[in-house]
Amino acid sequence: MRHFAIVGSGPAGFYTAEALQRAYGENARIDIIDRYPVPYGLIRFGVAPDHQSLKAVSKRYDKVAESAGVDFIGNVSVGENVSVAELLEFYDAVVLATGAPHDRKLGIPGEDLAGVLGSAEFVGWYNGHPQFADLDPPLSGADAIVVGNGNVALDCARILSKTRNEFEGSDIVGHALEALDASAVRTVTILGRRGPHQIAMTPKELGELGHLEAAFPVVDPADFPPVEADEALEPGLRKSVALLRGFCDLTADKPKRIVFDFFARPVAIEGDGEVERIVVERTRLDESGAAKGTGETYALPASLVISAIGYSTSPIADVPFENGKFVNDKGRISDRLYAVGWARRGPSGTIGTNRPDGYEVADQIAAAMPPESASDRKGVEALKQLLASRSVMATDYDDWRKIEAAETAQARPGSPREKFVRHEHWLDALGR
Ligand code: NAP
Repeated sequence: MRHFAIVGSGPAGFYTAEALQRAYGENARIDIIDRYPVPYGLIRFGVAPDHQSLKAVSKRYDKVAESAGVDFIGNVSVGENVSVAELLEFYDAVVLATGAPHDRKLGIPGEDLAGVLGSAEFVGWYNGHPQFADLDPPLSGADAIVVGNGNVALDCARILSKTRNEFEGSDIVGHALEALDASAVRTVTILGRRGPHQIAMTPKELGELGHLEAAFPVVDPADFPPVEADEALEPGLRKSVALLRGFCDLTADKPKRIVFDFFARPVAIEGDGEVERIVVERTRLDESGAAKGTGETYALPASLVISAIGYSTSPIADVPFENGKFVNDKGRISDRLYAVGWARRGPSGTIGTNRPDGYEVADQIAAAMPPESASDRKGVEALKQLLASRSVMATDYDDWRKIEAAETAQARPGSPREKFVRHEHWLDALGR
């Protein structure tokens, strides 16, 4: 028998569990450990609440969690309740699948003013992440700025622009729904430091902006190179650029606008105690395709600034860490210690990109310790003993099912669930 611990129960963690299970069959016990009693990481806390079809992938993870030999161990924080060194003592291999939950900083003056948020905070707030339940983003002004030209920027702009009606069927948390319904935001400006050909927005997500009930996208045709230049783009990007070009001709009698401001790099955020404006420098592309400041600056009014410029992983004591992720070679950090997903390669790709990652690491583990081999490590038995000695109350998959049932029971009509947004409410639901 082999014992494996996977730290983190998001997509990368579950694909790794699936891969290890396929490689080892009945000869492995796989424990998926999470700091929260609720699994699925990014699926629960990151994927937009109005993208329920994307969230449906968790059904596949349910099957893994329910299968023999796999356990979910919630409410255990690795690095706090138990160290990686201790896990390595109990388990044959430890895989870090901790994602990238922290916002990268813009690194400009004024970034710490009230009303300047990172996308992890804003997304966490509307998705019921307990850390951001009290965020209370300022929505009483007319002008919001979203910095970045990726899919997360699109998520933030879309959520700021949707009507209550459009959240029907979503699992946006009640506090966010009420606040957004009362929001005074009328213009969301998306700042891109480069141009339409350099966006990191995928067509399906971009296309949604053209069909909003109360908002429409505004794009300046002067920002584009000649249309023939689109032919050299890779097909997905070409589709996105075609959509942007289509937005140039759009006029709509709708109260809200989503304005694309390209070649615009934020250089300072200003205000008296809270954000009032953002100072932006015009850019152009240099020979390498990087954004280069032109020296021309202008200010945009802003009552809310959300930077959606990428994420970084949380360091864990004694695990080598550099540039926002764990130092690794094809997922291997050191003897019997691995990383997968965003903790391995940084925050890029779709949910499915994590699947090959998990399988590659499982292959490496299987090569190092063949599936028919055995060890005398104690696995979960030793972990549970240690946690009990530290009065850490671990939860399991059945506990998660109880929480899920309670969240479903309190859902408003048309919504699949009303998430508990505080750690203690999860434990309350378990009667702990
Ligand atoms: P991303 O795709 O890497 O985009 C980050 C954006 O921020 C880029 O446009 C980048 O511009 C810009 N940026 C970086 N540093 C900046 C700075 N200092 N100043 C101004 N702009 C800056 O990251 P993301 O949007 O956070 O998304 C993370 C991953 O999740 C991506 O793979 C994304 O596709 C995926 N995702 C998918 C979905 C979906 O499929 N529905 C939804 C959300 C997220 P440069 O290109 O100039 O560096």
